[in-house]
Amino acid sequence: MSEKKKLSIEWLSGCSGCEVGLVDLHEKLLNVLDEVDLVRIPILMDIKGYPKADVGMITGSIRTEHDLNSARKMREACDVIIAFGTCPVYGGPHSGGYADTPQELLDVAFCSNPSTVTTDIPDQTPKLLDQTLPIDAEIEVDLYMPGCPPHPGHIFDGLMSLLRGQAPKIPRYTVCYNCDRKMKKSDVTTLRRTYEGPFDPDICFLTQGCLCFGSASLDRCMAPCPKSGVPCFSCGGPSEPIILEPPKDVRTRIAHQMSHLTKIPHDTIVAEIESQAKTHYAYAMASPVFRQKPTFLFKKWTQKSEEA
Ligand code: SF4
Ligand code: SF4
Ligand code: SF4
Repeated sequence: MSEKKKLSIEWLSGCSGCEVGLVDLHEKLLNVLDEVDLVRIPILMDIKGYPKADVGMITGSIRTEHDLNSARKMREACDVIIAFGTCPVYGGPHSGGYADTPQELLDVAFCSNPSTVTTDIPDQTPKLLDQTLPIDAEIEVDLYMPGCPPHPGHIFDGLMSLLRGQAPKIPRYTVCYNCDRKMKKSDVTTLRRTYEGPFDPDICFLTQGCLCFGSASLDRCMAPCPKSGVPCFSCGGPSEPIILEPPKDVRTRIAHQMSHLTKIPHDTIVAEIESQAKTHYAYAMASPVFRQKPTFLFKKWTQKSEEA
């Protein structure tokens, strides 16, 4: 029997949901463990160093100096690096701090937070960087596996392919592909937010005047949200055309589609998305995929919605 590959895992700033995603492999985790020796996994073992490994998996994004250091150490120690989850690929939900300085974020968290009676910001250990960074802003990445967390099927396929030296299957469809709701034309004239239901469980949210980002999101999840009555908010990151084509824009893509399905004007939909940009762009706005788009005027949008 050939020697087992060594797998090393490191978590940077994230929520540990990606580690739960690994456990969601259930009995297939045993198949993975048949092929690897885990040399580092902080959620299960108390280990301080960065042992040499064939495959390194990084969860979470770079938010602090400690994250930066750990990402570099992992790159030195591992032959192959997987960016595991939306956080390391695009920045993840804490990309939402993009519009604020670390000082402003700390003020909100401590000084102007009604539940924290303090005027002092605690010592920052480790120190926050100016912005959240996807890991490829600092180190080279060999395999990107977005998803918040990625679906166990994609985890298993990606990991096992890599361990066996094969190219992983990378489906390119959007969340709509796995959603059972029917997209059809309607006479709806007004937008409704998610809490303004009820919504017909068999009909596309867009048809019913509710924003859903499924058609602009890469499916790494099998569409659990629209299947459970919640519109997609794109936690898995943008679809391939949005990634590859700088002029393609999430808000105009969704507005174009929704204004054709309903009687809601295109500009009304665009304005609604811009007014909630912190929600709709939260998961990937730390990434140049969004930041470098000429149409991504996030600071202007948030300023406008704060003035309103
Ligand atoms: S990608 Fe999602 S599940 Fe994974 S660490 Fe980030 S926030 Fe948590
Ligand atoms: S836009 Fe949303 S609700 Fe409509 S088909 Fe796509 S994922 Fe389903
Ligand atoms: S928000 Fe969208 S991308 Fe995220 S799990 Fe739900 S359906 Fe998938």
